[in-house]
Amino acid sequence: MADARLEMYRELTEAAGVPGQERDVREVMRKYLQPLGQVETDNLGSIVAVKRGTSDRPRIMVVGHMDEIGFMVKYITEDGFIKFQTLGGWSEQVMLAQRVVIKTRKGDVIGVVGSKPPHILDQDERKKVVDKKDMFIDIGAKDRKEAEEFGVRPGDPIVPLTTFTPMKNEKLLLAKAWDNRAGCAVAIQVLEELQGVNHPNTVYAGGTVQEEVGLRGAQTSSALVEPDIGFAVDVGIAGDMPGVKPEQAQAKIGKGPVITLYDASMVPHVGLRDFVIEVAEKENIPYQFDALAGGGTDAGRIHQWSRGVPSLYLGIATRYIHSHVGILHRDDLDNAARLLAAVIRRLDAKTVDAIKNS
Ligand SMILES: [Zn+2]
Repeated sequence: MADARLEMYRELTEAAGVPGQERDVREVMRKYLQPLGQVETDNLGSIVAVKRGTSDRPRIMVVGHMDEIGFMVKYITEDGFIKFQTLGGWSEQVMLAQRVVIKTRKGDVIGVVGSKPPHILDQDERKKVVDKKDMFIDIGAKDRKEAEEFGVRPGDPIVPLTTFTPMKNEKLLLAKAWDNRAGCAVAIQVLEELQGVNHPNTVYAGGTVQEEVGLRGAQTSSALVEPDIGFAVDVGIAGDMPGVKPEQAQAKIGKGPVITLYDASMVPHVGLRDFVIEVAEKENIPYQFDALAGGGTDAGRIHQWSRGVPSLYLGIATRYIHSHVGILHRDDLDNAARLLAAVIRRLDAKTVDAIKNS
């Protein structure tokens, strides 16, 4: 199916949105959310569409985060190179020789993270990883003045340059920023699934800001939504590649949304977790489990809002996250949205009370 949804995935993943500068992503979200509900934003830029069912409460929050890991211009050297601040968790192993775009007020400036060719590296240097703080971006400017004329100034966001690409198996989609436009896409798709459905609650679905720097938009958007139940949809770590042991990451792409049993930011609410599993079984929706020693998601913040919100993090298994490319299987997005919609159809006040007390 050459389809509108593929176009949505392209727009979402190709939009630039480092933490704190998510506007372009928010505008894509707004475009897709507007026909599905009443759009609201918090004061830091998180966005949700409100889809009212037959009751104001319970309120169900479904969010992905809009920001992606990237960089920010720190300063321009005398000879026109860009020194940068990393935003979010970058590993040096995936940074050198990668193409990036600096989003300036005068338009896009393309650059590359500069690296020394092997010819001039001595034996020791070849084995060592270059430190982030020694890296620079080459935009082809002859000096600082020319870089400034290009429009570059300190504070400008810098994002990976990667074209959205369906692979030979067209179910597999390669793109930058699946972390976490995958969750943004699922939030939209959940609302699409609920069109014309009389659900016994009110759904707030959309995208948060600044997850990659500390789950910050999840906090402010929780105050906007005042949720009774929270779902963060975020990428999960796909372990289906050479060299990854099952105790490190168990999830496989294409095998269904990942019900995450533990991460460093949250122990999911057991009653909600079991309810979601029960619904997946009833509806014949595939799912898998994982538990991660590190990392965290927006659910880590949502569940602590006010007097506490039973919450769950649903993962989309993705390979190579926190690099220029991620690969995921589009069926996992569809199945995550189907599962959440099936859960939401059943979440009336009585059921939410039972979940809380279980
Ligand atoms: Zn991330």
